[in-house]
Amino acid sequence: MQSIDNLDSLAERLLEANQVGALTGAGMSKESGIQTFREKDGLWKKFRPEELANVDAFLANPDRVWEWYNWRRDLMSNVKPNPGHYALAELDDLISKFILVTQNIDNLHNEVGSKHVIELHGNIRKNKCQSCKKPFETGWLDFSEGKLPHCDCGGLIRPDVVWFGEMLPSQAIEDAWQAAAKSDVYFSIGTSTVVYPAAALPFEAKIHGAYLIEINPDRTDLSSIADLVIRMPSGEALPQIIEAVQKRKDQS
Ligand code: NAD
Ligand code: ZN
Repeated sequence: MQSIDNLDSLAERLLEANQVGALTGAGMSKESGIQTFREKDGLWKKFRPEELANVDAFLANPDRVWEWYNWRRDLMSNVKPNPGHYALAELDDLISKFILVTQNIDNLHNEVGSKHVIELHGNIRKNKCQSCKKPFETGWLDFSEGKLPHCDCGGLIRPDVVWFGEMLPSQAIEDAWQAAAKSDVYFSIGTSTVVYPAAALPFEAKIHGAYLIEINPDRTDLSSIADLVIRMPSGEALPQIIEAVQKRKDQS
């Protein structure tokens, strides 16, 4: 396994920080077996996203969109958090304040008990009404009678995820923005940083003086401005970082 240079000084930096932030993307869950979107073998090479993940497609053919989401839900229900998710959850107890912003909808950060998770693109386990936006029961819906679920208001129930062309939840993006501006250290983990506005968050952190760390086996637009680039899978890099922080904390 590859090791990270200057782990000690990174650990010290994390322990000294008043606030640390992170943005995670699909790469974070790759080692859990969930495909990313934009890589060669990405899920969306097989499906046209515009046919499925947008509101017009849903209203035109809700059965088809639900079929796709049920398939994705099934896939995601069988995956487990990987060592990277566990490591980030440990950071909560090691440093002063840690805010975790994710573009992932897979719920894996919550599953390992991360305390401050901001979900920018929703959560595939949740449902809401397309018309009045009211949350509908969480979890897998029963389609056994072949009927799509409806809200009390008569609206169709849909997955509570952000689709193409839709706004991000305003409170989530505002909180994420503030966390980026306040962070002394900011991680960009497993994201290609091409989907805006989420992609702007690490840049925002850097502009406000954060020490910026990228964890990604491949180069991204962020790489040239990052203060530290760790070219490793997050499931390998993050446990090493957390171990170093723990060790340093124990020594002090
Ligand atoms: P992306 O597919 O555009 O990029 C993934 C990035 O992860 C790439 O830069 C890749 O080099 C990197 N990567 C691959 N394996 C890695 C590993 N083991 N460790 C660290 N990095 C690794 O994904 P994105 O930037 O998150 O794109 C955003 C969109 O994709 C979001 O809208 C998000 O909702 C959606 N998405 C979410 C999931 C999920 O919930 N798990 C899965 C697929 C896509
Ligand atoms: Zn409704």
